[in-house]
Amino acid sequence: MNGLNAAMKTFPGGKHIEGHKQLTRNEPICAMPLPAQVIIPLSQHTGSICEPLVKKGDKVKAGTKIGQGNGVVSSTVHASVSGTVNNISDYNHPVLGSCPAVIIDSDGKDENDAQVKERSGIAELSKEELLAIIKDSGIVGLGGAAFPTQVKLNPPRPVDTLIINGVECEPYLTCDFRLMLERTNELLQGIQLIQKIVNVQKVFIGIEEDKQEAVLQLRNRIMEKKRRFEVVALKAKYPQGAEKQLIKAVVGREVPPGKLPFDVGVIVVNVGTAVAVYEAVCLGKPLYERIVTVTGRIVKKPANLKVRLGTRFSDIIAFCEGTKEPLGKIIMGGPMMGLAQFTDDVPVIKGTSGILMLAKDEIKDFTETPCIRCGRCVNVCPVRMLPYALSLCVESKSFEQALQYNPRDCMECGACAYVCPAKRRIVESIRLIKAVVK
Ligand code: SF4
Ligand code: SF4
Repeated sequence: MNGLNAAMKTFPGGKHIEGHKQLTRNEPICAMPLPAQVIIPLSQHTGSICEPLVKKGDKVKAGTKIGQGNGVVSSTVHASVSGTVNNISDYNHPVLGSCPAVIIDSDGKDENDAQVKERSGIAELSKEELLAIIKDSGIVGLGGAAFPTQVKLNPPRPVDTLIINGVECEPYLTCDFRLMLERTNELLQGIQLIQKIVNVQKVFIGIEEDKQEAVLQLRNRIMEKKRRFEVVALKAKYPQGAEKQLIKAVVGREVPPGKLPFDVGVIVVNVGTAVAVYEAVCLGKPLYERIVTVTGRIVKKPANLKVRLGTRFSDIIAFCEGTKEPLGKIIMGGPMMGLAQFTDDVPVIKGTSGILMLAKDEIKDFTETPCIRCGRCVNVCPVRMLPYALSLCVESKSFEQALQYNPRDCMECGACAYVCPAKRRIVESIRLIKAVVK
């Protein structure tokens, strides 16, 4: 196994699915040229929408704070280019459909805000000071959930373990893989800062076995730098990167339904988030850009791009020279948990890990047939639910009966629908039940 553990750790259920990662896994991170205009939505995170701090005509620089969240679970947003505020108005949003956004015309100078500068005396910073920097820098979980990082790193009870999530189990996406290979030192510094904040001795970095280069490089660099972090090679299986499944695989602890990782003494942080923490603390750089995998069989130049937040998908697609065949569907994220887009006139937000373009013949137009009680959905479900039962409840409109199957435990990973031979729309059914219950 080329130096990896012989017995791979994993979690019950799940399924190995075709990764399609060869399209971009060897594409080094490349910075996309500045767009002429960016659209910065005032909601890019779990929690309340930000209040704008600028008005039409204001001059801003990259890193200028332009939106402030209120409340405990909140974050901030920053300008990603230097230029002039063109307008503040509702604009297309890749998750919410539409949302108030600050629209900035770039002046092409790419000047940084005065606060974006290397910080000294980092070793002396207290936990509270580090958390304040993270909050002020608008850092949220970059693995997809976009939960404010300063809240996650300050749990209501002590934890003893930090797990860094380098799994990236969604098919097609390779931005985290490239980040682990190309920014290893920054990642390790970010992990050390997070370790100090959460005050734990045990630090694990979970990576799937099919990313051997990242496993070996991190292990070597950890030895060179004499860090006490353990890299754990995990079986390549979907959804290995889901928090609860990662915790089960790495430390064997089970997070009960309705509970959170800190309830079992663990905090999980994505590798991209750890690098963002390093940049905020050491370089004074707020979160105004991220790595995005642009991929799909039909994309002319698939890539891993460093992109300013607010860049339109259409600008990115043009930079990658468009598609070889007519476009059937654009998805933000991967094919399992990503979100289909109705237009390419949507901006990159903090949670945009990928832009996946599919041809018409890659979009399955399938017909749902009756459940044959084969049990495959039950075997694959990582949270041990009865997906077929929920789908049958929706068919018979028995929403009250559906409650006994704990629909809220479903993380909508899509593994059940992926294996179902009857092509039943199980995830849509569960989403409907959740909506009705709400
Ligand atoms: S979508 Fe929900 S029910 Fe289906 S496998 Fe995933 S967690 Fe289980
Ligand atoms: S996998 Fe599909 S056909 Fe099989 S039990 Fe589940 S819902 Fe029914």
